[in-house]
Amino acid sequence: MTESIYDAVVVGGGPAGSTAATELARAGKSVLLLDRAGRIKPCGGAIPPRLIRDFDIPMSLLCAQIRSARIVSPTDRRVDMPIEGGFVGMVNREVFDEFLRSRAAEEGAERRVGLYEGISRDEEGVATVHYRAPEARGGGAKPAAGDERTVRARLVVGADGARSKVARQEVPGGGKVRCVFAYHEVIEAPQSAANDEYDGRRCDVVYNGEVSPDFYGWVFPHGGTASVGTGSANKGFSLRQSVGDLRAATGLDRARTIRREGAPIPMQPLKKWDNRRDVVLAGDAAGVVAPSSGEGIYYAMIGGQVAAQAGIEFLETEDPRVLAKARKTFMKAHGRVFWVLGLMQRFFYSSDNRRERFVTMCQDPDVQRLTWQAYMNKELVRAHPMAHVRIFFKDMAHIMGLVSP
Ligand SMILES: Cc1cc2nc3c(=O)[nH]c(=O)nc-3n(C[C@H](O)[C@H](O)[C@H](O)COP(=O)(O)OP(=O)(O)OC[C@H]3O[C@@H](n4cnc5c(N)ncnc54)[C@H](O)[C@@H]3O)c2cc1C
Repeated sequence: MTESIYDAVVVGGGPAGSTAATELARAGKSVLLLDRAGRIKPCGGAIPPRLIRDFDIPMSLLCAQIRSARIVSPTDRRVDMPIEGGFVGMVNREVFDEFLRSRAAEEGAERRVGLYEGISRDEEGVATVHYRAPEARGGGAKPAAGDERTVRARLVVGADGARSKVARQEVPGGGKVRCVFAYHEVIEAPQSAANDEYDGRRCDVVYNGEVSPDFYGWVFPHGGTASVGTGSANKGFSLRQSVGDLRAATGLDRARTIRREGAPIPMQPLKKWDNRRDVVLAGDAAGVVAPSSGEGIYYAMIGGQVAAQAGIEFLETEDPRVLAKARKTFMKAHGRVFWVLGLMQRFFYSSDNRRERFVTMCQDPDVQRLTWQAYMNKELVRAHPMAHVRIFFKDMAHIMGLVSP
């Protein structure tokens, strides 16, 4: 049965979709937030203070506060990067995502569990979203087998993640995004005393061709649990073996495994985020994750925000060209940082010799200060112009091989 028409149907209730639904509902639009539910998003769960501030995240949602990062080189050199006067927040995605979806509902969005299937258009050109609702019996965990339903929408926000069906079906070039496949094991965190390699207030980041030929491995503490993972775009590389080896090397093989899971991380924003008609993409669906780090939660939420702003303007003007403002606004603010991070990933993650140089660079106090400032506040520090100049010349010396690793 086809229902009444919503201003917007948001497909996907992750950080991007929930943020878009919240913003649209706050602007007084009628919103349906459609999420398939039933699966915890595999994720390291690290978020910067800027996100906590800008999106009013309660501190009670943080399962850990990280005070330093340990960078490990291929020859096992360790560089500790303390965070001066700040922290990195850690969240468990089942709790964090549910908080964001509930907030969207509090703002007036209607929540529905369903598996998005596709969009058709009626004779007036209005979008009809097709989805499968969970079977009435069986408790709603598996919508795939349920009844087909439809709902009409003036705007569709595609926030259904890295393998977005909305992007593939509706946006030119959508679904062809370059990805790193990331895999992690959620383990019971050891007591610090029982494992001197592990510190519940420190994130470990391992740069080593054996741990990943083109990305990095990590140990991220989450209070009572920890995420141990790695990623690679190389399909022949065994992520599972690599995480097993990383756990063995850090004594974490003795910890109980709670979950094993993986998912793709997109590595390049799509060229188009809208269909020039009635669909706009946000978050992983638009390919928006920072290269080098794989940081996607903050950018997904910004993506949801800019998609909602463009969507609101579209609903008010009926001019589909304004949907392109979502990508334009995002890239204006973050495009340069993404470009630099992409360059760094291609250069420094391509051989152990270069990884060794990268870790050497991380010893530099200027690099440490600027890296943390850039990560935590999402802006470069204007107060120390000479530090940028010093880093530029040091980076060039490393890239050109003028200094030893
Ligand atoms: C192993 C791993 C570790 C990571 N670690 C970090 C980290 O530490 N910090 C960080 O910032 N980022 C990290 N990321 C990246 C981050 O998880 C993503 O960038 C972020 O979740 C993107 O948010 P999103 O809302 O765009 O997509 P998602 O979080 O993927 O949400 C998509 C939503 O759409 C729903 N959905 C999908 N298909 C359908 C459908 N057909 N119908 C209905 N609903 C559907 C899903 O159920 C989900 O709720 C990591 C990623 C991986 C894989």
